[in-house]
Amino acid sequence: MSPSLDKIKQMWQANKAQFQTPCYIYSISDVERNMQALKEALGTPVIYSLKANSNLDVLVRCGHLFDDGIEVASVGELNKIASGGSVKYVNNPSMDKNTIRIAISSKATLIIDNIEQLEMVGEFIGKRPVNPILLRLNSLVLKQFNPEHENFRTDHFGMDWDTAQQCLQRAKELNIDVAGFHVFKGSYSFVKTANASVKAALQIVNEFESILEKPISFVNLGGGFDKELDESFDFKAYRELLTEFPSHIQVAHEAGRGIMSSAGYFMAKVRYKKTIFDKDYLIADGGMNQSFLLAQTENTFRRYQAPEVFSLQPDSESLETPCHVVGTSCNKDDIIGLLPEGSPKANVGDVLVFKDCGAYNASYTVSPFLDLPQANVYLVE
Ligand SMILES: *Cc1c(COP(=O)(O)O)cnc(C)c1O
Repeated sequence: MSPSLDKIKQMWQANKAQFQTPCYIYSISDVERNMQALKEALGTPVIYSLKANSNLDVLVRCGHLFDDGIEVASVGELNKIASGGSVKYVNNPSMDKNTIRIAISSKATLIIDNIEQLEMVGEFIGKRPVNPILLRLNSLVLKQFNPEHENFRTDHFGMDWDTAQQCLQRAKELNIDVAGFHVFKGSYSFVKTANASVKAALQIVNEFESILEKPISFVNLGGGFDKELDESFDFKAYRELLTEFPSHIQVAHEAGRGIMSSAGYFMAKVRYKKTIFDKDYLIADGGMNQSFLLAQTENTFRRYQAPEVFSLQPDSESLETPCHVVGTSCNKDDIIGLLPEGSPKANVGDVLVFKDCGAYNASYTVSPFLDLPQANVYLVE
């Protein structure tokens, strides 16, 4: 059991009413540890992608950990961080002029996705202070500059190289300062693509500088980190490779789940136990309505998580047959866990604790359905 789960268990045993289920419990020290581990492994600033977990309490308590910057995709997200002093990045292919205006007034750095957005930024030049912008390059541009790069599934993010060249020319005409570029190759992509991307990015830096006829200052290589750092990846060699960037370039990475996933738990209480013919079910007071990802409806092969059982009265018996954990939403797919054969029995009133729920669980969820309650949120140190 991880130290934070152990701590939550002790807290629950001491006072069971302090966690009103269904709820999320986030460990501040886990967020801190994950962030530090990433920064040490990479040797660069790490920008936090807010969509992984935009809970305000977490944001306030962890604010100091996000000094390298926070990346947002909407005005709603921007409002959440507007009052803080952190460096802000705004990026979304659908960003409209209003979003651009608000981003500029809140002193955010815009990551431009297409030439129309660039034209809109041009309208603010000379009227408002505008931070130097970044261009978001489609991942395929990396492959174009380094044919040995792994293939990508095509996506609609950023621009191809022809558009990037047009944007750079147009930025010069419009007097828009370009700080550099940003790439994001998708979740879980880091280990497979990291070194090849650096080789491509080094050439892209040269191209940017020769078109702009002046130096750029910033390259965001994206992220795509798993929820745990992959120990098999040679981070030392990677850090060495990064030293090939000219010294006037600040290289950064960004992460969401790598920071938040393992720092969060979802807790639900067993309301009923039932058996239908020979199948056993635990009916919990929370499910896919509060934690959509646990139901794994987006996976072709569903491998449900086995939650930790905190028992009111530990049962000495273990399960003879697997037991599914189901939620409250009257949806056939509302199965959020599976206690395998041999695991401790859970009874009515016990709580089930699911790990790795700190990223994309609370927010990426179907809460309006059936007007079911939202999950509570608790923070532990
Ligand atoms: C969502 C997103 C991230 C975070 O992805 P994780 O897999 O959570 O690390 C980073 N960068 C961009 C541009 C994103 O859209």
